[in-house]
Amino acid sequence: MAQIQLKNVSKNFDGESVIERLNITIKDGSFTVLVGPSGCGKTTTLRMIAGLEEQSEGEIWIGDHNVSDISPGKRDVAMVFQNYALYPTMSVRENIEFGLTNRKIPKVERKELVYEIAEIVGLTPYLSKKPQQLSGGQRQRVALARAMVKKPKVFLMDEPLSNLDAKLRQQMRMELIQLHKRLGTTFIYVTHDQVEAMSMGEDVILMNKGKVVQQAGPMELYNEPNSMFVSQFVGMPPMNVMSIEDLVTYSEDSWSFQQQGVSYIGFRPEKIKLLKAPSTSGFCLNCEIINRETLGAEIIYQLKSQIGNIQGKSYLTPMVNEKKVYVEVEYSDLYYFDKDGNRISS
Ligand code: ATP
Repeated sequence: MAQIQLKNVSKNFDGESVIERLNITIKDGSFTVLVGPSGCGKTTTLRMIAGLEEQSEGEIWIGDHNVSDISPGKRDVAMVFQNYALYPTMSVRENIEFGLTNRKIPKVERKELVYEIAEIVGLTPYLSKKPQQLSGGQRQRVALARAMVKKPKVFLMDEPLSNLDAKLRQQMRMELIQLHKRLGTTFIYVTHDQVEAMSMGEDVILMNKGKVVQQAGPMELYNEPNSMFVSQFVGMPPMNVMSIEDLVTYSEDSWSFQQQGVSYIGFRPEKIKLLKAPSTSGFCLNCEIINRETLGAEIIYQLKSQIGNIQGKSYLTPMVNEKKVYVEVEYSDLYYFDKDGNRISS
């Protein structure tokens, strides 16, 4: 069992709180992503799980063990870093074997382990090469192999793909997902990139300012965000959000929204329809198209309404050719938020 639990975990640096009473459960064998804006505390959380950073308060459990006071080497976790941290003078074989330092494993067995892991990550032909003779993706695989050779209960990964170009990154994402399926080990993956979080995570923990805002599967985060923050963090382009106060002069609907305690409404760019005449059945805004960005299969619209700019997204053909349009959103596609940005269920 390698379920991981953080119980009321806090962290202060020089008296300043960066993590505040974090309570998280990470399911055994899951691919869990920690995501959130820069500085929200993702890396600190991961380092506390690894034991590289001591929590100021609270407990960390791995399986049935309270590991709060246990040294990193004894936690049975392996961490893969952003900068790979490979030794330039060592060969690929030696770099991988380095993961076994301090373990009393006979030489022959070590060699077998290194071969086994090299085979899994496709590094067998490169075992004698030095890191500088490898591509970025291959170096990343060496870093992974070095973590894997320990056969840990948990893999901790801190933005491991951020030094790779976009194409290789996508390929490595798929490789990591496959690797996770094959190993069945718990993976905790830190990223600030919502696309990476949504495409890789079975479970996504979205953090902001040292707290968990929402933990859910990717589709639930997208469809059922619990707050304005989540709704705008997840999705590309982000959800359009407008204040009811601004809307009052331009939409008759805003009066009924106000009566329900709604302070903001939101709608996803992909849910809008562009019409030549005002809508008779949905929420409607009078807009002007200020830009169309054609990205192959989809078109992103920049629209100017009386109360600020809106983004729209459509697949296939352009919705209209006119410049002046009406933006229609079905009422069932609207999201409602209170004055603090919390979601109000419709
Ligand atoms: P990023 O995506 O930019 O890597 P993050 O979400 O991983 O950010 P952390 O690196 O965990 O964020 O940092 C959280 C906060 O703690 C930041 O405000 C950071 O400045 C602070 N912090 C992190 N490490 C230390 C440290 N060793 N000493 C003092 N403050 C620190």
